[in-house]
This record gives sequence, C-alpha cells and structure tokens, in this order.
Amino acid sequence: MRRVINVTVVLIVMGLISLSFTFPKEEKKTKKVKNVILLIGDGMGLSQMSSAYYYQDKTPNFSRFPFVGLSRTSASSHKITDSAAGATALSSGKKTYNGAIGVGPDTNAVKTILEYYHEKGNSTALIATSSITHATPASFYAHVDSRNKAHEIATYMAPSGTDFFAGGGRQFFGGEEIVKALTEEGYLIDTSKLVPASDLDPGRKYGFLLASDGMPRMTEGRGPFLKNASELALDYLQKKEKPFFMMIEGSQIDWGGHANEADYVVTEVLDFDEVIGAVLDFAEKDGHTLVIVTADHETGGFTLSSELKNVPFKGKQNDYNSIAPSFSTGGHSAAMVPVLAYGPGAENFAGIYQNTEIHAKIMDLISK
Ligand code: MG
Ligand code: ZN
Repeated sequence: MRRVINVTVVLIVMGLISLSFTFPKEEKKTKKVKNVILLIGDGMGLSQMSSAYYYQDKTPNFSRFPFVGLSRTSASSHKITDSAAGATALSSGKKTYNGAIGVGPDTNAVKTILEYYHEKGNSTALIATSSITHATPASFYAHVDSRNKAHEIATYMAPSGTDFFAGGGRQFFGGEEIVKALTEEGYLIDTSKLVPASDLDPGRKYGFLLASDGMPRMTEGRGPFLKNASELALDYLQKKEKPFFMMIEGSQIDWGGHANEADYVVTEVLDFDEVIGAVLDFAEKDGHTLVIVTADHETGGFTLSSELKNVPFKGKQNDYNSIAPSFSTGGHSAAMVPVLAYGPGAENFAGIYQNTEIHAKIMDLISK
C-alpha cells in the first residue's frame, strides 16, 4: 500500500515538474512591435516579384520572409484599383474610390497610420522614387479628393510633421507659403543630394526633393538612391530613439508596367529587392520591427511567358527554357498581390484577405 502511494506521489511530482517546464512555452508572447516599415512595390504582382528570381544570380531578398499572404486590391468604386485608392486602403484601412488621396468615398479625411504614429509623438518617414506628392506617398500624409492636385497635396507635408521624406517633386514645393510652413515646422530641405548620416540632427526634420517630378529610372542612372535614402532614414530614426513608421515605395515598377517595358519593370524590381535586403538587415538586428512588403495592385498584366520561337520545318513552338516577358494591358489588373511579412506578429499576414486588412493587422499589432 505504502509503496503504491509513493509511486503515485512521485508521478504527481513529476507531472508538476513537467507542467512547470511546459507552462512558460505556452505563455510565450511575441515581442512587441515598435516600428513598422511598409514597403510598397507599386504595381508589383507575382510575376514582377518572380522576375527577381530569373534576372539575377543571387537569391532575392524576397526569400527572407517567413510568412506570405495575398491581398485583394479592388477599390470601392472599381474592380480594378488605382494607386491612390490602393495606397489609401493601406494607409487608413478604408476602401475608397480611384483617385482618392487619404479620403473616404465621401471625400472626408481618413486617419492614416503615419498620423497615428505622429500623434503619439513617435517618428515617421516617407521615401519614394516618384514625386513625394504622387498617389502612393501622398495617401499617407495628405487628404485631397483627387490625386491630380499635386500642389495642394504638397501643402499637407508640413502639417503632417513627417520627420524625414525623400523622393522627387521639387516643383510642387516651390511656393513661398509651402517653404515658410516647412521652415516653421523645423525642416531642412535639400534639393540636390542626400547627405551623410552624421550630418542629420535628430532634433530637426529633413526633406530631400531630388528631382523636379519623378526620380530618374534605374536604366537612366538613378543608382542606389532608394536604398541609400532608406538607410539614411533608418540611421536618423534610430537617433531619434522613438518608435517609427516608415513607408518606402518602389514607385516605378508601376511605370514600367504602364510602359509595357520589361527591362524597366525588372530593373525597378531588382532595385526594390536591394532595399528590402537593407531593411531586413536592420529588422533582424532590432527585433521590434515589423516589415511588410506588398503592392497596391498589379500593373501591365505582366507575365513571364515562354518565348515563341520559329523552329525550322516545324513552324512556331514554345521554348520552355526562354522567358519572353509580355504584357496584357497598359493599365492595371485585378490580380491579387503578394504580402510578405517579417518580424513580431508576421504570422498574422498569412492567408488571402482584402488590402484594408493589412492596415487592420498592423494596427492590431502596434496597439498591443
Ligand atoms: Mg505609386
Ligand atoms: Zn499605375
């Protein structure tokens, strides 16, 4: 009898020990998300992303993401979205009409994630290879009923308090009032080049307007502007020692699609992938940064189609070893676009969902 009890006691004690060992595992919490870096490849569908696997020798940085989802991109007004409605869905979590910049279907302003960070006294940055007033970046800081009003969009920059911005669009910031507003807000504006990181004072705000409108194409010698600007911003944001939100746009993947120029598309995708690498290097070290890569929509109906070759005596045949990229439209398409996620909470981005859900998932993670 005594022997039986002893065995029971031992089993109970062992059970408690094993419980105490398993308990912390079940309680394991994901790290808190402090920083969000949202990378938008404008017009970057799956074929555009896939091109990075065929047109360079190394493994693309796209492969470094542990979680992948698909985003449905329709606007409230159209099955096929434009970049304004697409970016507003990402910035605010609201579907809106094509052309809308940070406003809902009723043209009333919708609050953006950039504004959320700014209101909390945290830091913000916007970087694009288009004009900084172009639809994608604009939808994070401006509230205007039409994407065509670039001068009006520019007036929203100073009040948005965006700590760091870089891209093109110098011509839209030429007015005396805009310059005055930016100066009063503490901005240093540079219209010629990025500066060394050591020159950036965390107490100031910075605007780099390095082209009159869009930045040059990669094929026209833009060089590593997007990566350099992103790394400069990361240095600066770290000096500010506050949580930050940063949006980085590979704007011209879309323009290559509209132009139906495969070279243009692919070189812009490869540039974007380089930037992703730099951002992931930072996020891996930091541990509290959520990195999301997605697109607002697909552009061009781009495909990595097999080349149709003339085979002597046999007529035309598809060569499954040669890719001859092709396009089905000069506009956008309704195809779903990739969502790649890295960092705390990244697992939430697996699945198929609306573009507005990307915003909702991010907000959920940062408000925890
Ligand atoms: Mg864009
Ligand atoms: Zn477009």
